[in-house]
Amino acid sequence: MTHWILICTIEVTINHIQIINMYTRALIQTHDKTTSNGDIQARDNGLTLGNDEKYVCFEGDPVICPTCKSIGVTKCVPPYRPWTGHDGRQVNLDGDLCICKCFPPPQLKASQNSVTMIFEANEIAAIAGTGNWLTRCGHKPSECGLTHDQRFRLIDENTNEPLASVKYELECNGHTISGISDEEGFTDFVYSKNPESVKVYIEV
Ligand SMILES: [Zn+2]
Repeated sequence: MTHWILICTIEVTINHIQIINMYTRALIQTHDKTTSNGDIQARDNGLTLGNDEKYVCFEGDPVICPTCKSIGVTKCVPPYRPWTGHDGRQVNLDGDLCICKCFPPPQLKASQNSVTMIFEANEIAAIAGTGNWLTRCGHKPSECGLTHDQRFRLIDENTNEPLASVKYELECNGHTISGISDEEGFTDFVYSKNPESVKVYIEV
């Protein structure tokens, strides 16, 4: 027969409470606005949310932009999960871009928040090209583990002058970031979890 005697009492304490950041992106519908007051014109695609009669917006739908007086199109930016309409286009989310004549490109702003995609920080870090969306939304990419970043300065090799307003593409880890260099010739940042090589292209 086994006997047990109490020799001490240890209180179990929680040393760390880990806060898991969740990142939420809501779906965009027709007549939602952009940060340049553009009016999003989702085409008739048969998909609405709940009892709402407003169509859900998919990549490539037009945007009437009063700021640059042009018609832009919506562009998906990571992170997102596959969700396509009947014609194969990806659904647009809050924080996606409007490619019009404005620079930098305006962002799409969702008017509803009941239908969303939710991401955890480690998920965000695993999807290529999410850092620029994070910074636009006021987060630090390092909080998701994207601890590596790099931007580039475009210089004219003959005059040594910075190349301002040049269209560029940065290719990293299967993802492409497009932009226009600023007045000092700088590109946007590329963020990644691990060291990666980046290819820089400019439009000539
Ligand atoms: Zn515009």
